[in-house]
Amino acid sequence: MKPFLAAAAVLMLAVPAHAELPFVKERAEWSVPQKPFHVIGNIYYVGMAGVSAFLIVTPKGNILTDGGLPESAPFIEKNIQALGFKLSDVKYLLNSHAHFDHSGGLAKLKADTGAKFIASSGDAPFLESGHIPYGPSSLIDTAPVKADRVVKDGDRVSLGGVTLTANVMPSHTKGCTTWTMPLVEAGVTYKVMFFCSISVAGNPIAGKLAYPTIVSDYRASFARLKKMDADIFLAPHGVQFHMAEKLARVKPGAPNPFIDAKELPDMVQKAEAAFDKDLARQQAGGAAYVPR
Ligand SMILES: [Zn+2]
Repeated sequence: MKPFLAAAAVLMLAVPAHAELPFVKERAEWSVPQKPFHVIGNIYYVGMAGVSAFLIVTPKGNILTDGGLPESAPFIEKNIQALGFKLSDVKYLLNSHAHFDHSGGLAKLKADTGAKFIASSGDAPFLESGHIPYGPSSLIDTAPVKADRVVKDGDRVSLGGVTLTANVMPSHTKGCTTWTMPLVEAGVTYKVMFFCSISVAGNPIAGKLAYPTIVSDYRASFARLKKMDADIFLAPHGVQFHMAEKLARVKPGAPNPFIDAKELPDMVQKAEAAFDKDLARQQAGGAAYVPR
């Protein structure tokens, strides 16, 4: 068999003939380049228009959270450099969760920066294999990325006076990690949250479940998020924290629009309502993933 025929045969075995790649329309929107910008204090946005990456700058080197899509890595690197920072100054690379739109660029970013990659124990197997076994993201594998450190809920990552805490809330993925840190700006201490996600996003939550405890994990995550607060709520997709609207409101001398303590409770309320609706729909036999 000719090599391309062999490759085609393998592909046909792996993907049913009728299957189409998920998130095709979303992926095109997520991949639009975004000019990097200062968020607040030592936090900068270096991601795409639709998938986030944040750079936290410290005197001892920098921390990068999330790698975007596989095709995002070169843009994230250019954005870091456009702000005047060196790739080699990225010392730690973090991840919100092991979906291709936030982990796809990690392997290249790790190789190009030399940063140590830190993953949660729940998602490390997916990141290290490049494959998550459930949900629509299971159809899009990514370059495997080795974790230099594996963290569990409550573990901390410190560098140059910055300390981030891993809040691991299984649901959206098994090791979904919301990173939090205090930030002092003009004498005021703010709670910053780099949110993981809590959307269903095509995860099977009825019938054959994505994984056995997924429904109770979602419930526990909603309950826990209701007890948390965030003055500065940042998330893996710009739409989840109204990035474009806030950026348009940035003006010298005006209050920083990224300070908004209502974002987290609003998001949790909407996400829980959406979860209940999707659960009922899937329990009635609806497909877990419905393309847009
Ligand atoms: Zn996701």
